[in-house]
Amino acid sequence: MTDFDIPADRAALLHAVADALDAAADELIPLAAEETHLPHARLTGELARTTFQLRLYAGEIAAGRVHDIRSDPADPGWPSGPRPALTRVRVPIGPVLIFAASNFPFAFSVAGTDTAAALAAGCPVVVKAHPGHPRLSRRVAALVGEVLPDGVFELIEGEQEGRDALLDPRIKAAAFTGSLHGGRALFDLAASRPSPIPFYGELGSVNPVFVTEAAFAARGPEILEGWVGSFTLGLGQFCTKPGVILVPAGSSVDLGVAGGALLNSRIAAGHREARAALAAHPAVRVLVAGDADDTSASPALLATDVASFLTHLDELLVEVFGPTALLVEYTGEQDLLAVARRLPGQLTATVHAPEDDPLLAPLLTELAQHAGRVVLNGWPTGVAVSPAMHHGGPYPATTAPLHTSVGTAAIDRFLRPVTFQNVPASFVKGLA
Ligand code: NAP
Repeated sequence: MTDFDIPADRAALLHAVADALDAAADELIPLAAEETHLPHARLTGELARTTFQLRLYAGEIAAGRVHDIRSDPADPGWPSGPRPALTRVRVPIGPVLIFAASNFPFAFSVAGTDTAAALAAGCPVVVKAHPGHPRLSRRVAALVGEVLPDGVFELIEGEQEGRDALLDPRIKAAAFTGSLHGGRALFDLAASRPSPIPFYGELGSVNPVFVTEAAFAARGPEILEGWVGSFTLGLGQFCTKPGVILVPAGSSVDLGVAGGALLNSRIAAGHREARAALAAHPAVRVLVAGDADDTSASPALLATDVASFLTHLDELLVEVFGPTALLVEYTGEQDLLAVARRLPGQLTATVHAPEDDPLLAPLLTELAQHAGRVVLNGWPTGVAVSPAMHHGGPYPATTAPLHTSVGTAAIDRFLRPVTFQNVPASFVKGLA
């Protein structure tokens, strides 16, 4: 038994990891900027979010919420039959394999939300580094490894190494943030094991925005300006980027946002191909072509009408990871509900409508069936790290619609409930 197995000490270790990362900020941020082309200000905020996350999850341990002990004393008169003494406790699921993401080199990478959640649950962690920021990954791993006891944390690199680790019988759960294609391949691999394991994949999302006629009449230019700001934020390299907006026909949009280098050449190539495919669709008009090459891109705006959008939904409702978005024009706002009903799983869906709009309640009700987070009169790009956050959604947004990868509930993914029957309470308390 090490400090890591004792909850109070584990909380202290998470604080120590956060402190070590904060202390190394002057070294880590320039390294991250060099490898990802993200600006210093963004990376400074992201590191602060990452260390806050570690401390917040440590607070869950300290508050006694992680193991969630529930006890029922013996009761011979229990209505369903005599009840023995029962104590339910959530125990760590076991070693967790985490596939780090490319687009958040701190918050969804080596010491990011999945790692923090798994450690908070009491699980040893193996991180498969993302090749987009290898030197940062190694440095963060070294800092984390200096704090944690031996055997609790390891970094691996390489695509095949990741696959091998996923098939290793010692791994008991895996978490992933990245593409639908990659995530689905790894999900299938996890399911193919002789002993399958939970695979928490956070995949892609289009994050559509629905603007009612009343909202557009009241605030049309402001909404479109906000949308451009949201879909071009970080050059559109967020899983919560609102890639499609539905607005009344005749809307005009002023882009006026500069381009820049994308995260890496693989993302730039993926973006360029996906943008070109969407722009070449016969139902799509190019409003702003934008530039895109092997390393960078400037924003592009494409458009279609709602009838074409519904006819070709599979081809037009697609994630283009980068600064490209699709404006969908409607002439009758009931089409908003028609689109909402046909949505595949999304991380988020957004509505702009006044609170007395008769379309608001039906839209929110329908969208709750399809998205993990429903936003009213705002934008989905910021994801607060907080107890009430749900960052997830039905497939293909994730492979595990019951769970979140952000917020304190992210810890639940790595805990397995056990009920002890007639076992002394003192033993069970020792587990938590
Ligand atoms: P990715 O290609 O899905 O890769 C993510 C991680 O999974 C990498 O470590 C990768 O390893 C590994 N991986 C993927 N497929 C694998 C396979 N078949 N076998 C073994 N390992 C595999 O994601 P990415 O590199 O971050 O970006 C590519 C695309 O992902 C983007 O264009 C975007 O569409 C999407 N994306 C989505 C999100 C999101 O939050 N939803 C975030 C980032 C990116 P190797 O690189 O070593 O092969």
